[in-house]
Amino acid sequence: MNKKTIRDIDLSGKRVLVRVDFNVPIENGVITDETRIVASLPTLRAILDQHPKSLVLMSHLGRPKDGVPDPKYSLRPVAAALETHLSRPVTFIENPLSDEAVAQVNSLPDGSVVLLENTRFYVGETQNSPELAAQFAKFGDVYVNDAFGSAHRAHSSTEAVAKLMPAVAGLLMEKELNYLSGALESPVRPLIAILGGAKVSDKIKVIEALLAKADKVLIGGGMANTFLRAQGRATGASLVEENALDVARDLLAKGGEKLVLPLDFVIADAFKDDANTQVIRADQDVPDGWQILDIGTATVDHYKTLLSTARTVVWNGPMGVFEMPTFAKGTNAIAQILAELTAQGVITIIGGGDSAAAVEKAGLAERMTHISTGGGASLELLEGRVLPGVAALNDK
Ligand code: AMP
Repeated sequence: MNKKTIRDIDLSGKRVLVRVDFNVPIENGVITDETRIVASLPTLRAILDQHPKSLVLMSHLGRPKDGVPDPKYSLRPVAAALETHLSRPVTFIENPLSDEAVAQVNSLPDGSVVLLENTRFYVGETQNSPELAAQFAKFGDVYVNDAFGSAHRAHSSTEAVAKLMPAVAGLLMEKELNYLSGALESPVRPLIAILGGAKVSDKIKVIEALLAKADKVLIGGGMANTFLRAQGRATGASLVEENALDVARDLLAKGGEKLVLPLDFVIADAFKDDANTQVIRADQDVPDGWQILDIGTATVDHYKTLLSTARTVVWNGPMGVFEMPTFAKGTNAIAQILAELTAQGVITIIGGGDSAAAVEKAGLAERMTHISTGGGASLELLEGRVLPGVAALNDK
């Protein structure tokens, strides 16, 4: 990575302003999943080890109406969780846009940890307002961005603020960039990508980028249906994007042997877990009223054989409607195959979002090389795009 990190800069005695990703699920004031908080701890501990004057954290949480404080999206519960993880007090600042708040933070003892209220409570955050960024900047001498999951957004707390003081990457950001960009820029080959999810149209750029970089691209999920339809197959009631058929044909032509489609499918007579199901081959038509909801076992076996040749695997998007156990089998089987490959030394990288959720649900998260904490951000990186929150950081 060509960006400076917290290891390239002296933080002792400095007020270190860190954009973290504390966008955690909260129900009735209780955090139901602390993964993102835990993922930030190595960076926070590494900064504290450098004896800063203060460590001031900021994050967004949820999608409150732009610039309107809403108690439902307050970061206050995160301050309490953080106190437990760091074993030290965390001062919560309810109104960061006041001079009193800045004075309060400046008067805290050396090494204090502070959490500012949700950045999206303030007008201008999502418009990348320089004025709001200047307010945030009053809390820091150095800016650290460790919020990979928000790095694809040019917001005041991710982009504009980075221009106002020395700006470096945190350790989580560095790790995400090394794995996801590294996998595409200088992969240990063969590199095999697995792409699933609902729609071809959402992932055209990813498919194109991966066809250029990977040795094979294995397709699953609803997007396979559009490819089938583009090949002239009847797809019954399956999810198909009629307006993406030309794109699908184009990708099939460009992809050639590199683009691998499923050999069989699990079809159902309704979109529900207890529907009647059948397995059909890819060269069979889907009967009227039936729909494709998962890949079949012949596909899993075929993909397993292909994947056994890989030294790096990148996976984004479920192979079927994994939210329903009946149609989660293909996704779970792929997760299991990747866990086994990881044990054999293959680098396995899971894009954020649904595939990360599926791997976690299958209890296999610990057995992958890297699971991204950012859904949208990891997809944009796989597309080969430059993330604004990364571009704004200082080069090495
Ligand atoms: P994406 O956000 O594009 O990664 O899509 C994830 C969603 O695709 C999940 O909610 C899955 O339930 C859905 N999905 C996967 N396979 C299918 C399919 N065959 N038919 C309909 N939806 C699907």
